[in-house]
Amino acid sequence: MNVPFLDLNRMHDPILGEINEAIYKVVSRGNFILGDEVFRFEESFAKFCDCDFAIGVANGTDAIELSLAGYDIGYGDEVIVPANTFHATAAAVSNVGAKPVLVDVLDDYTLDFSKIEESLTDKTRAIIPVHLYGKVCDMNPILDIAAKNNLKVFEDACQAHGAKYMEKRAGSFGDAAAFSFYPGKNLGSFGDAGIITTNDPYFADRVKAIRKQGQSKKYVHNFIGRNSRMDTIQAAVLNVKLKYLDEWNNSRSKSSEFLNNGLEGLVATPNSDSKRDDVHHLYVVRTEDREERDSLNEYLSKQSIQCGLHYPKPIHLQEAFSHLEYKKGSFPVSEKFSDTILSLPIFPYMKEGELSKIVSSVENFYSQK
Ligand SMILES: *Cc1c(COP(=O)(O)O)cnc(C)c1O
Repeated sequence: MNVPFLDLNRMHDPILGEINEAIYKVVSRGNFILGDEVFRFEESFAKFCDCDFAIGVANGTDAIELSLAGYDIGYGDEVIVPANTFHATAAAVSNVGAKPVLVDVLDDYTLDFSKIEESLTDKTRAIIPVHLYGKVCDMNPILDIAAKNNLKVFEDACQAHGAKYMEKRAGSFGDAAAFSFYPGKNLGSFGDAGIITTNDPYFADRVKAIRKQGQSKKYVHNFIGRNSRMDTIQAAVLNVKLKYLDEWNNSRSKSSEFLNNGLEGLVATPNSDSKRDDVHHLYVVRTEDREERDSLNEYLSKQSIQCGLHYPKPIHLQEAFSHLEYKKGSFPVSEKFSDTILSLPIFPYMKEGELSKIVSSVENFYSQK
């Protein structure tokens, strides 16, 4: 039996009729960009996240960039970003002309808030906590530091659709939050799309203008914005899929619990915490060292269990960020994790046989060692 890393069809097959109908409506009307479905999705997603506003954009990276630009963060400014995240978080900061200042992460893979204050300078304008793998960062200490130092907070919630911290949804804590609807995310479209959530009406209007060439009315451009509009077809798909998101996330939780029970004592399993409801975008375990990780990965691949590495190299060791002049050793926790992490398959509606096969294969790997 093959265990795929992710099988989107298990979510889509039961609702394909509903999705096709929604797409057909858009096609027959011919309003393909920022159509009614986009505004309807913005309203539903804002409500889902306990927020006042949501602004649909072209992808998750743009959602971060437009959030920074919406508060005029750019050249000469510094922004705190975790060293262990997907490339796009740091790239978005660079793309608006600001400088990413990296901070190491905690044992739960999220931003180490105790190391933020030592990294602040008089140029620091914002913090981007990343809710990595579907776990919301410990937001209270981060929000306290931001308030004390007059910094904006932008949540990178691209892996955390529906996750909660103290009963509140991801995307409702910062000045703004960025979500991606890349097909493989917990809520994915049929192409690229993203959204920004916020409670700030002035910022929401500003971001709406930025996504449409700085335009207030047709051919009236008050400033130079850019093109980052959400497609109507993507919103039509997302309107259908949003109704099932909580159910899909619950299904991921059940699989995660099964794996936790089976794998405890063999590898370091993801920690849970009573303050947070994770949505298990990825199920990441850790081994003792790199050699063990690589041979476990190879062993599982031979058993037809598809795994991934998220991420094999921290931001500061990527060539793209060599100009920041960090060194090997700058962020020891992130470096250790990049050597020892392994993402096992997790997605909604995994079969018990698939989950048992993962557990027994990991058991077999360690019993023959
Ligand atoms: C996916 C992702 C992004 C970027 O989203 P895109 O839609 O691919 O641009 C940013 N940050 C994190 C943590 C992500 O996982």
